[in-house]
Amino acid sequence: MMNRIVVLGAGESGAGAAVLAKAKGFDVFVSDFGAINAKYKKLLDEHDIPWEEGQHTDEKILSADEIIKSPGIPDESPMMQKVLNKGIHVISEIEFAGRYTDAKMICITGSNGKTTTTSLIYHIFRQAGYNVGLAGNIGNSLALQVAEEPHEYYIIELSSFQLDNMYDFKADVAVLLNITPDHLDRYDNCMQNYVDAKMRITQNQTQDDYFIYWYDDPIIQKELEKYDIHSYQCPFSELKKSGVIGYMEEGEYVIKHPKAESVSEELRIPQDQLALKGVHNLYNQFAAGLAALVSGVSCEHIRNSIETFTGVEHRLENVGTFNGVHYINDSKATNVDACYYALDSMTSPTILILGGKDKGNDYNEIKPLVEAKCKALVFLGVDNKKLLDFFSDFHGEVRDTHNMQECMQECQALAEEGDTVLLSPCCASFDLFKNMEDRGEQFKALVANSQKPSNPLGGTIA
Ligand code: ADP
Repeated sequence: MMNRIVVLGAGESGAGAAVLAKAKGFDVFVSDFGAINAKYKKLLDEHDIPWEEGQHTDEKILSADEIIKSPGIPDESPMMQKVLNKGIHVISEIEFAGRYTDAKMICITGSNGKTTTTSLIYHIFRQAGYNVGLAGNIGNSLALQVAEEPHEYYIIELSSFQLDNMYDFKADVAVLLNITPDHLDRYDNCMQNYVDAKMRITQNQTQDDYFIYWYDDPIIQKELEKYDIHSYQCPFSELKKSGVIGYMEEGEYVIKHPKAESVSEELRIPQDQLALKGVHNLYNQFAAGLAALVSGVSCEHIRNSIETFTGVEHRLENVGTFNGVHYINDSKATNVDACYYALDSMTSPTILILGGKDKGNDYNEIKPLVEAKCKALVFLGVDNKKLLDFFSDFHGEVRDTHNMQECMQECQALAEEGDTVLLSPCCASFDLFKNMEDRGEQFKALVANSQKPSNPLGGTIA
């Protein structure tokens, strides 16, 4: 009989999983090699769940019948190697939570666009009055909600790391936005391993379920030939094609239910009424609209929500126009593909801020767009050598900076009326910032600061 559950990693997902495991009567132990956030210590203590931090005690961990692993812990870590050698079954928090709920699961994955699409789907369900929870990679534990605040529907953002340890879980509605290289450092630098993880979003689906995906993604197309998918296929594309049920036609966004028999069952929205701009957001809005439609949300509710959604912080976030210069915070662009779409949506001369912790980026993918859209490049990182070398023949101005303040001074010196300053750095933020939110917030704070009237005696008036 399964009795002892050990949770490795006491962040949002781990602490939530521990609470649910305890509620289900397991002998639970939580171990974190780093420091545990006070908020999660309190939660564990309130539930009488023993924990350790700053270490992993072998005997307490290897005695587990099953392990729930935080998606942040790689299999290569010494503790995980011992766990795997011993043959202990390892699952993700989502897999565990899925065992204890019959709620409908709407799951979103992809290399880019997950948070935007997940938030939009959640917004649609909320506006339509559904009893719905938001969970997964986006920040709220599914397990904790299942234990303490159950909902009828969950909108769940899934990273490839969460999908890695999912086996029996099934998405009633699966959304796969795109697959482009990311996190290859965690997949033995093997793209196929990462692709396989993403494709797990469809596992266990039956003919009562739905699979929504971007029709034109070359990797998804190739993968689909290998799989026998039983669910209703719901592809979307910018262009109307046979079988595609989300597309643009005569300047209108169109989505249809895959089982629809008449045109009265389709939703049409003029493109200029869509709240989120840019081609990538068109895809996200197809995916979100279809996910809601196949879940039974009415066309009118979907329309209202898609027309009013205000977007998500740090994703092509409009910071405002100051002294005629437009500022956009896309701090979440931590890979090259995300920056590609940001640049693609630029309509005025752009000063692009690039840099940070590079995950093995190939900047060739954005080179033509950089040449076409950018008047200047401002590098922001501890070490910008790779960027300086790669863009050495760039036609415009280049600046090398090492903190946000210096970076913004350069941007403001370079910017003229009508220009856009775009923070879309292609890289992770950990070299200079706590995280991508910190990077975006520092950017926004300095944009706002620059607007204070200057003091004739020098300095700024607070
Ligand atoms: P994720 O949660 O997958 O990281 P986000 O919604 O947070 O996705 O967006 C991450 C970055 O990718 C942002 O810079 C955003 O502008 C860009 N982006 C959003 N949607 C897409 C898409 N469908 N394809 C490519 N890039 C996208």
